[in-house]
Amino acid sequence: MKTPLSTKQVMRYNRQIVLPQVDIDGQELLAASRVLLIGVGGLGNAAATSLCGSGVGKITLIDNDIVEHTNLPRQTLFDESQIGQSKVMAAKARLAQINSDCDIVGIEASLQPDNTPYTSIDRSGVDSEEVDASQTDSSGIEKAEINNHKLFSEHDIVLDCTDNTQSRDLINHLCYKHGVPLISGAAIRFEGQLFVAKPGESQCYACLRRLFSAPELSCTEAGIFSPIVNIVGTYQALLAMQVLMRVGSVPLNTLLTFDGLQHEWQQWTLPNTMQCDVCNK
Ligand SMILES: [Zn+2]
Repeated sequence: MKTPLSTKQVMRYNRQIVLPQVDIDGQELLAASRVLLIGVGGLGNAAATSLCGSGVGKITLIDNDIVEHTNLPRQTLFDESQIGQSKVMAAKARLAQINSDCDIVGIEASLQPDNTPYTSIDRSGVDSEEVDASQTDSSGIEKAEINNHKLFSEHDIVLDCTDNTQSRDLINHLCYKHGVPLISGAAIRFEGQLFVAKPGESQCYACLRRLFSAPELSCTEAGIFSPIVNIVGTYQALLAMQVLMRVGSVPLNTLLTFDGLQHEWQQWTLPNTMQCDVCNK
C-alpha cells in the first residue's frame, strides 16, 4: 500500500526520492508504513529519530520507563527538562516537532505475553493499575486496552530496541505468531549487533540465541560507549526502511556485528541444522 505525497512532501523528501532505488514509489511506501518500536532507550531514540525524519507514516512507541539523567549521554531525543517524564511522552513530543507528517502513538506500558493484562506506569516505580480502555490523557498518550494480536497485526515491521533477553524472546515469538518482520538491535561496551528476521522466510531470533548459552550483561553492568548505541539504532532504521521501501536486500539468517574499537563490520551466517519451535526452520 502507498500513501500519495503532496507537492510539499515531495520537496521535503527530495534528497531521498532522487535516489533511483527509492523514487516516488519508495517514499509513498514509507509514508504508508506503520512501525512498532519497542523500547525507547538509546536504540529506540536513534531509530525513531531517523524513521520519523525520513517520512515513515506512523510510529508506535512502547516503553514504561522514565527519563533519567544517566540516559542523556545516549538518548538524544531527551533533555534535562524532561528528567522524570515518561520516555514515551518525552519522545512523542520531540518527534512531533521533527516531523508533523508522522503519526506518533505512545503506549506507556511494557510488552506482555498474550493473555497478560497491560499495566500503566506508577510513578513510584511499581506497576499497579490495569490500563484502562479507550482513554487518552492530556498529553495524547494512548491508554487504550492493548492486545498483542491488534498491536502486532496493525504494524508492518517491529523494531526490538529493548535491552534484555526476556523481552527479546517475547518480541520474536510475537513477530512470528503474527507474521511481522523483526529488526533486532543490541549494543554493549564498544560492540553492536543486528539481526533481521522475516516470518516464513528466515530463521528467527531464538535460532540465534540458541548459539549463545552465557547470560547477557546489561549496559548498566558492562558500560556502553555512547555513539555505539546511536550507530546500531540508526542501522536498525536503515534495515527497516529497506524492508518497508523494498530497497536492495537485507541479510537474513545472518548476525551483523560491529566492533567500534577496531572499526570492523562482520557477518555471521547461522547454521541451518537446528530445529526451532518458533520459526520451524
Ligand atoms: Zn527460530
